[in-house]
Amino acid sequence: MSTPLPPVALYLHLPFCVAHCPYCDFVVYAGGEARGPRARTERLYEAVGRELEMRADALDERFGRPDSGGPRRPDKGGPTDEHGPTDERGPRRPDKGGPTDERGRTDERGPRRPLDSVYFGGGTPSLVPGEWLERLMETAQRRYGLARDAEVTLEANPGPDERGDLAGFAAAGVNRVSFGAQSMNGGELRRLGRRHSPEDVATAVAEARAAGLGSVNLDLLYDVPGQTIAGWEATLRAALELRPDHLSLYALTLDDPDAEGLTGETGDHLPTSSGARRWREAARREQDDDRAAEQYRLASDLLAGSGWRGYEISNWARPGHESRHNLTYWERRPYEAVGPGSHAFDGAVRRWNGAALQPYIAALLPAAGPGVVPPGDREVISPETAAAERSILALRLDRGVPAAWADEPSAAGAFAWGRSSGLLEAVELDGEARLRLTLRGRLLSNELFERLL
Ligand code: SF4
Repeated sequence: MSTPLPPVALYLHLPFCVAHCPYCDFVVYAGGEARGPRARTERLYEAVGRELEMRADALDERFGRPDSGGPRRPDKGGPTDEHGPTDERGPRRPDKGGPTDERGRTDERGPRRPLDSVYFGGGTPSLVPGEWLERLMETAQRRYGLARDAEVTLEANPGPDERGDLAGFAAAGVNRVSFGAQSMNGGELRRLGRRHSPEDVATAVAEARAAGLGSVNLDLLYDVPGQTIAGWEATLRAALELRPDHLSLYALTLDDPDAEGLTGETGDHLPTSSGARRWREAARREQDDDRAAEQYRLASDLLAGSGWRGYEISNWARPGHESRHNLTYWERRPYEAVGPGSHAFDGAVRRWNGAALQPYIAALLPAAGPGVVPPGDREVISPETAAAERSILALRLDRGVPAAWADEPSAAGAFAWGRSSGLLEAVELDGEARLRLTLRGRLLSNELFERLL
């Protein structure tokens, strides 16, 4: 088994949405649980804060206390850009952490290195009230440490009642926002069950710039029912006009977590409602692999021609705006995670929390007593699986893998097949021989990845 390592990144799952989009199988709670008198938002935020503390206690025990990372840079670490000023408000709170304990004793194992990135995902984390975001950020900084130039991302929806207080989020330390735009076509957005319009996306990006958020991502979907090639190109061009820094382009996937056995007691997914199941069945009939491939090619060409770097199969960035948090996953580095359905990895073991809200809250905030970590499960990663994961994740990136990895006996057959099928190409990068996916390889990557497993 690999040696466990302390996290370099932290993911917080805040699962509330105003409404549940029928294609979405993230861990999401909508409707009365998210808004109104019976909402469970406050309890969840409190429970997430409690879990942050508990997971930090365990990390202190294993790896020593964290280095605070010192005060964060006055520009809050977000890549600066030509769209607007960087935030000059500097560190938000005095540092309460550090490698010494309350009695001033130095932890001999420490200090543990501070986090490189924090990511608020969901759900719609932009629904979180500013004071809760501040509290969670304060806990993260105090208990985990935050590098001076740490990337802090918040996912947001563009609608007027969903994008939240972007200036307040920036003041709390967020320096990157990821908007779930999905399409710049009103008809497609309605078909997807989205609550915002294309104009809302433009307004949201403008507000993010005005708030001083130095890095803006737009998520867009292709292979959407009813979407033509020309419609997809129009969406891409409209998105580019907003001058985002990062684009995540995903084919609409319509999975069935129930059939995949992911929705049990400690499963990390929620059961699919009958309405969503019917929507997905109808939508699947309007999807088309050939059209999706053509849409992907079109995006690759268009973005490459505009100076964007397709640094990962589904992700493009302007120089310097690659997502550092997501690179942690693809580079298979260790990360901590809290919230229902979230996944953590320490380099040796992958663990996850169950998706169910009530058991999550009940474990962390019992009527009496200190609480326990929420229900979930874990998987010890075998050396064989670790090697396969390392190759698969690295191949997602445009740098690919060192060519020598193809000589490993367990992977040699798959790499040879990838080369002979035109999915892999040999390149020299920075003086090193490497293998990386071709465009055809990006389109058919799963066929190669299945052979590597
Ligand atoms: S807003 Fe996003 S997270 Fe929420 S249901 Fe829709 S796709 Fe899922």
